[in-house]
Amino acid sequence: MNKISRSIIVVFSLLQINQAFAGNELTETDIKFSNYKERFVKGLWKVYPAWASSVGYHNYDNVLTVPDEKSRLIETAFCMMHLDSLKNYNLSSLSDDNKTDYHLIENQLKYAIWGIQEQKAYEWDPSGYNVSGNFADMLTNDYDKLEARLKHFYEKLAYVPTYYAEAKKNIKNPTKEHTALAIEQNTGGISVFETDLQDALKKSKLDAGEKANITARAATAVAAIKNYVEWLKNLDNTKPRSFRLGKELYDKKFEFEIQSGYNAQQIYEKAVAHKAELHEKMFELTTKLWPKYCKGKVMPSEKLTAVKQMIEVLSKNQVKPDSFQSAITKQLPQLTAFIKKKNLIYIDSTKPLVVRKEPAYMAGVAGASITSPGPYDKNGKTYYNVGSLQGWSAERAESYLREYNQYILQILNIHEAIPGHYTQLVYANQSPSIIKAILGNNAMIEGWAVYAERMMIENGYGGYNGMFSTESSPEMWLMYYKWNLRSTCNTILDYSVHTKNMEQKEAMELLVKEAFQQTAEAEGKWKRVSVSQVQLCCYFTGYTEIYDFRQELKNKMQEKFNLKAFHEQFLSYGSAPVKYIREMMLQQVK
Ligand code: ZN
Repeated sequence: MNKISRSIIVVFSLLQINQAFAGNELTETDIKFSNYKERFVKGLWKVYPAWASSVGYHNYDNVLTVPDEKSRLIETAFCMMHLDSLKNYNLSSLSDDNKTDYHLIENQLKYAIWGIQEQKAYEWDPSGYNVSGNFADMLTNDYDKLEARLKHFYEKLAYVPTYYAEAKKNIKNPTKEHTALAIEQNTGGISVFETDLQDALKKSKLDAGEKANITARAATAVAAIKNYVEWLKNLDNTKPRSFRLGKELYDKKFEFEIQSGYNAQQIYEKAVAHKAELHEKMFELTTKLWPKYCKGKVMPSEKLTAVKQMIEVLSKNQVKPDSFQSAITKQLPQLTAFIKKKNLIYIDSTKPLVVRKEPAYMAGVAGASITSPGPYDKNGKTYYNVGSLQGWSAERAESYLREYNQYILQILNIHEAIPGHYTQLVYANQSPSIIKAILGNNAMIEGWAVYAERMMIENGYGGYNGMFSTESSPEMWLMYYKWNLRSTCNTILDYSVHTKNMEQKEAMELLVKEAFQQTAEAEGKWKRVSVSQVQLCCYFTGYTEIYDFRQELKNKMQEKFNLKAFHEQFLSYGSAPVKYIREMMLQQVK
């Protein structure tokens, strides 16, 4: 459940079109469309050089797009042209794989135009201007010789002063929250051009003169960043815009970002109903578990108070700090064995997950995450990074282990690895598509991982008899529901804050009282919702859509429905929006 899993992308080869459609005869339209996709992607990188670098396409590393009116016109023209090109292809005559790619391209183009013409974040979000991340990648990612990367670094530095000058021209009555964020992040990024750069120069074989030139140009860039920060601090902003996006923009952004079959309000209403359902079930389980864990103690009559106390008791079931890493690692073969035993989905045993201890640059981030190679990194490996609590204070470790207790740790493994993100990735790689690698639908990716959590527990994972359980234990269910409340309440929070004026006090009430979160976590969430929009909804929306679709298909197919076949077919379409996968699968049932 973290940022790294966002980069779940696949290795591809555009030339292997035939392989990509194994079993599906290619029509002439498909061949034409596949060639078109190649041209589209090439053009895309020219218009978005920073995006290109971030996915491992390094031809434009030495370019920085200056955010002026001209660049917005170029971007708009590019999008219009390609929306026009798409009209040359008859959607219904394309293969399923190309159909979903068509939808993803069209959505991306419309989203970009909407961003420029309607959302206009370049006017009110000063944190959108920050060059440090892009430059930092050039120093830390080892895709080319250090000297070559430093040469591009030097050429790109030349754009920085103009970049910030244009940023200042764009900004009009920015929100206070995004202004504060911009000040914080731009200030934090300065070290890239000072210490990080100097460290890299020391390691490089450049001569003294070249090093001096880069250092001098970096100093000019730093001056431009500092000037921008000072300008923001002193901005005469008497009528700041609200950080709340407002219903009209929010609904549209939801449509583009999530690409769901439901609209934002429908998802919000589903989340509210789901929360009430979870509370009921949690109270039932608490009543059942109370005599076992709190014998002799009177159960509070207020439902949520009783549930909270039971969660606190169960959270004491923790691993020892020094066996955190091994506990996570040990579970992986158990998950695979359980899935086989229960016949839930085919797991390709030739592609085992490579578990590694967290690399140095991730140190301090406990838990687990998947890193997968970018679309241009053909030899890259997929890793499961497992963090340790080494060097943590006893207090910090205790608080972390309370949150990631024995129950939640298993759910985390399901989500990140098997059959969550990692399994989805293996299936996606079977029909490689550059389009899905760069424009893959995040709600589908996260939704699958969240769906996998519930599916495993429904099938008895975490029961008393281990692999042979037909029913998961009430303890596991209760803790799972608590976990599931997080994504449910994220959706309620995001929609309420941006479209219904929810205040911070109400938000804290929702997260702490109704979702049983610690105050610190809830405060962090408030900060996040005040500078982001819609993204917090992707987990619950994807999950709900997959779950509802499974129910729909079950009702249609009756006894012919097979869970394993459902999972395998569902994943065979790659990271496409659930609504299109549903459409294609329903057609086959007909
Ligand atoms: Zn995730």
